[in-house]
Amino acid sequence: MTLSNHCPDLETFIDGVRSRNPGQDEFIQAVRDVAQDIIPFVRDNPEYNEGEILRRIAEPDRIVSFRVCWEDDDHNIRVERGWRVQNNNAVGPYKGGLRFSDNVTESVLKFLAFEQTFKNSLTGLPMGGGKGGSNFNPKGKSDREVMRFCQSFMTELYRHIGPDTDVPAGDIGVGSREIGYLFGQYKRLTGRWEGALTGKASEYGGSELRTEATGYGVVYFLREMLSRKDEELDGKTAVVSGSGNVALHAAEKLIAEGAKVLTLSDSDGFIHDPDGIDQDKLDWVKTLKTEKRGRISEYAEEYNGAEFHQDKAPWQVDCDLAVPCATQNELDEDGAEALLDNDVLAVVEGANMPSTTEAAERFREAGILFGPAKAANAGGVAVSGLEMSQNSGRVSWEHEKLDSMLTELMQDIHGKCVESGEGEDGAVDYVRGANIAGFRRVADAMLAFGVV
Ligand code: GLU
Repeated sequence: MTLSNHCPDLETFIDGVRSRNPGQDEFIQAVRDVAQDIIPFVRDNPEYNEGEILRRIAEPDRIVSFRVCWEDDDHNIRVERGWRVQNNNAVGPYKGGLRFSDNVTESVLKFLAFEQTFKNSLTGLPMGGGKGGSNFNPKGKSDREVMRFCQSFMTELYRHIGPDTDVPAGDIGVGSREIGYLFGQYKRLTGRWEGALTGKASEYGGSELRTEATGYGVVYFLREMLSRKDEELDGKTAVVSGSGNVALHAAEKLIAEGAKVLTLSDSDGFIHDPDGIDQDKLDWVKTLKTEKRGRISEYAEEYNGAEFHQDKAPWQVDCDLAVPCATQNELDEDGAEALLDNDVLAVVEGANMPSTTEAAERFREAGILFGPAKAANAGGVAVSGLEMSQNSGRVSWEHEKLDSMLTELMQDIHGKCVESGEGEDGAVDYVRGANIAGFRRVADAMLAFGVV
């Protein structure tokens, strides 16, 4: 009898994932997007196949799910569900954000935790992959309602996290307000001030540049991709989707680098400003979105010449660069076709898995520059990793130092993608590069641990 494991083909492997995770479409999609590159890779590297490494990474270490009760301002008792998906801690404590949104499901959090494992590995920092959140939607809730929800959520979550165990942060619907309430409750329950969360405000242990890091990092990665092709950002037109933390800071850095940003969006639709969104207009959007919690449609009322397109995505707008920064599966095959018809030069993902499998395939076939999220948006979690180091060392580093560390980290991630993704013709498949480089570090650690 032979004990060596047979390496399945992609469809057989995905059939297995599908039967073990019924109805979890986002999770199955994320695993497929990785497996299509890793299965050929493990065929050439049998030690990973024998260790069943991909199968093991695609099975979360554990998932905690819990009831979260809270009382709204009208004294109604509300019941939501909370989760923490601890996917893999081979290279460091579980690390990844919390998402509060009404479309959060276990499948969404499993896909995000799986992706996070590869992304965090690519940073080279000691961080494993995790993700958590709730179907609670902070939109339209009062500050006190959000506070009561966060306190109730942390009352369950605190026993599963800690600076050497699992370190959550923000994601969609979880910004500095929510992190403040969550950290306050963690500290109250444990009696310890320690770096169990990142994305904190600078007054209480947060890192400079954490807010900007994901969006800036996306543009630093894009700059590296362009410069390898002797191109630069100056003078290029850019279509950006989203108007949250990632989109606004990606737009800010694009503007600073001389690109013309034409669009922003939210769940109601997108605005198109043919004159370009300059820094003053962007500051206005920042106030609208972060302080007033308003809608992007108000931009078209404020600025002449700008148009609001209800319930539409911005991919039909002619541009050199596309930067999807809103949410998963926001860029489908039609969007990809429209961008390619307009001769887009580069697509770089600011959100997690914003391109559908079909859209990503179209970009890869067309051979344009396509920067996948797990590499391109790793700057946020990388600065979270630096926040963890500052917290344990009881130090705080300055903005400039962190910006140069972030720049180097993004250059390093770009270099790893090139190393593992460069074909014989010199063209780089960044998706393959990111998948293989991210996988290899986790896989080597898992092989060292044996079967655990
Ligand atoms: N939610 C962010 C991401 O998708 C950041 C997570 C973190 O800082 O831990 O990478």
